[in-house]
This record gives sequence, structure tokens and C-alpha cells, in this order.
Amino acid sequence: MEPLSIYFHWPYCKSKCPYCDFFSKVAKSVNQAEMIESYINELDYYHELLPKKTIRSIFFGGGTPSLIEPQHIEKLIVHASKLWRFEDGVEISLEANPNSNHENMFKDLKNAGINRLSLGVQALNRDDLKLLGRTHNLNDALACIEDVVQTFDNHSIDLIYARPNQNMDQWLKELEQAVSFGLKHLSLYQLTIEEGTLFEKRGVKAMAEDKAAEMYLQTVYFLATHGYPRYEVSNFAPAQYESKHNKCYWQGDDYIGIGESAHGRLKLKNKHYALVYPHIKEELTPNERAEELIIMGLRLQKGIDKTHFKDITGLDFNEFINRPKLEQMVAGNLLQESNETLCATNQGFLLLDKIILELCS
Ligand code: SF4
Repeated sequence: MEPLSIYFHWPYCKSKCPYCDFFSKVAKSVNQAEMIESYINELDYYHELLPKKTIRSIFFGGGTPSLIEPQHIEKLIVHASKLWRFEDGVEISLEANPNSNHENMFKDLKNAGINRLSLGVQALNRDDLKLLGRTHNLNDALACIEDVVQTFDNHSIDLIYARPNQNMDQWLKELEQAVSFGLKHLSLYQLTIEEGTLFEKRGVKAMAEDKAAEMYLQTVYFLATHGYPRYEVSNFAPAQYESKHNKCYWQGDDYIGIGESAHGRLKLKNKHYALVYPHIKEELTPNERAEELIIMGLRLQKGIDKTHFKDITGLDFNEFINRPKLEQMVAGNLLQESNETLCATNQGFLLLDKIILELCS
């Protein structure tokens, strides 16, 4: 049976972080029971459409899904398990933010059915946590990481680098501290100043491109030598702890998105659909889907699998791709090609956006 992944989006946060351009809202009170009922209705809708799938992964993202009461999370997981068979080793992740009131939080989430916890730490540095407008302090972050590592077998933290005035030595110290916890996975995102964010309004400047690129390269090297090889531009883990859920996006597998602003991708009877909340389907042409697979697949260290590309799109990779441009980039040491795959080189990872634009032109 074909695998399917489910993404639940919880749009609420305690406050808006000044760098954040995700879809998120701050509300004094939220009727959680009502929202969960609407999520259950959406699960039922998708089950009617896709009764024969098996669930490979479930991801609670946001916003701040750790604000959902654990009994509601359990209700959603149990409901999904009644509708579909779960694959052996199904990955059920939730994003949580550190806070000072976490005494039973992680235990309750585990009891609710979560088996992978991703903690939005963002910085292991007092001043930068303040600068990033986070609601947690360094002690909260460290205590929560300890708690998560004790409670779950599979865990990850997010950190942001290339912060204003950040230097390499400080960053390497944070990375050293992060790996000392024995985390299974790390997600590291470069700070960019996005339109409409508070940082943009305050005139905060992004780190110079060459300095940020140098920081990225040193990060990749540091993590590779500490047991965390890069498997995607921003994600680092030993092979058995690569995120199954996120790989479904990058590899072009089917997933449904539930909740405001969530989206999904499905292949039904050889047609491709983009799913946009609330479950509207827009048909994508094979060429549109192929472009998406190139954009997403080149983010992976192992790159695009040409056979998988054909299985999904029905198109021959070698006919679809802009061959003269590809060969130029292989000669320029930005891409590496074999009969089976196309992937970015170390140098290519720094220029992915430009490479993708050229390849799809
Ligand atoms: S907690 Fe996450 S989603 Fe919410 S505002 Fe901050 S960065 Fe954005």
C-alpha cells in the first residue's frame, strides 16, 4: 500500500517572534476542542479520498503545536490510526518551544502518542535568545533539552545561525554544547530578514552573504566530524534518524495538510494535485510537479533519484532537464551527476537557488 504522511498545522503562538514570517497568530483564548473537531472532519474527508494508504509519518507543526492540550493530540493520533494502518516505525513528531513550565509536558506528549520531539531552541546564548524575541531563556532551553533527551528516543533541536554580530567561535561553542546532549538530529537555519517581519521594520541587517556562507561551511564540517552528516541543506543526522516526514516533502511523496495555511501534494489516478486548506485540490501538470521535485530534491545530500523522478512525474529526467545548463554546472563543480542521480556539490549547496532557476529554465 502507498505511504501517506499527515501534517497538522497549529497556527497559534504565545507571541510573534521578530524574525518570523510563518503563518502564525497570537490569540488570548482558543477553542481547542472545536478546532480538533474540524481537524477530525478533515481526516475523515481525506480518508474517503484515500482509503488504502498507510501512514508513514505524522507531524504537528506551527505556530506552536505544543500549546495543544495532549488529550487533543492523542485524539487526533487515535482517530488517524482508526482510519488508516500505520507503517511499522511510524514517525509521529511534534514541534515544541522550551518554557519554564515543562514538568509533565514531555511525558504527557509521549503518552499522547508522540515519538519524536523537535524543540525550537534557536540559540544557546542568553543575549541572542533575547535578540530573537524568544519567550524562553537559556536555563529553560537547557532544562528542556535534558528533559526531551530523557523522555524520547528520537529528538531534534532547531537553532538559528548568522545572527547579527554572531561570530564563529561563539557559534561553534553553541554547536559543541548542542551535540553534547546526544541529540539524534539537528536543524540549523540561517537567519534571513523577511519582508513584513519586525526585524525588517527595525532595520535589522542580515549577515553578509560571504560571512554567512563561511559559517555554513564550517558548520557542515563541524557536524560531519561529530556524527551528524548533512542529509539536507539545513538538516543533520545519522541515517537512521533522518526525518521521515520531511523527507516525504523533499522526495515528492504524498502528504496531506490539515489546518489553516497547511498544504499537501497527492498523486491520484496519475494526476498531480496541490492541496490547500481547506482541502481544495488544484491540478498540477507533470511539468509543474517535475519542477517541484527538482527544487526539493536538490536540497538533499543524495540529490534527485532519476528513477523515482520518473515514477512520480511520468517524465524522463534526462529529457526534462536543461541539459546544456546542467553540463555547465557539472563542469563548474556545482553539480555531480551519475546515471542514477543528480546532486549538489559542497559549492553547489551555497548557490542552490540560482542552480534551480537555471536548471528549470
Ligand atoms: S514560535 Fe515559531 S511560529 Fe511562532 S512566532 Fe516564533 S518563530 Fe514564528
